[in-house]
Amino acid sequence: MARTQSRCGAPTQKGTRCRRLAMKDASRCDRHRGDWSKYTVARRKEQEKAARRR
Ligand SMILES: [Zn+2]
Repeated sequence: MARTQSRCGAPTQKGTRCRRLAMKDASRCDRHRGDWSKYTVARRKEQEKAARRR
């Protein structure tokens, strides 16, 4: 309980900072985590690859 959960802080379209709490193992909240995590980026690249093949 001593530690305070870090905030997301990702810039939003409004120009403000995201005020949502960050996820446990990430520096971003649930909403913004997907855009920046290595896992999502890698997965997105693979999807683009697959899409181009057709
Ligand atoms: Zn956020």
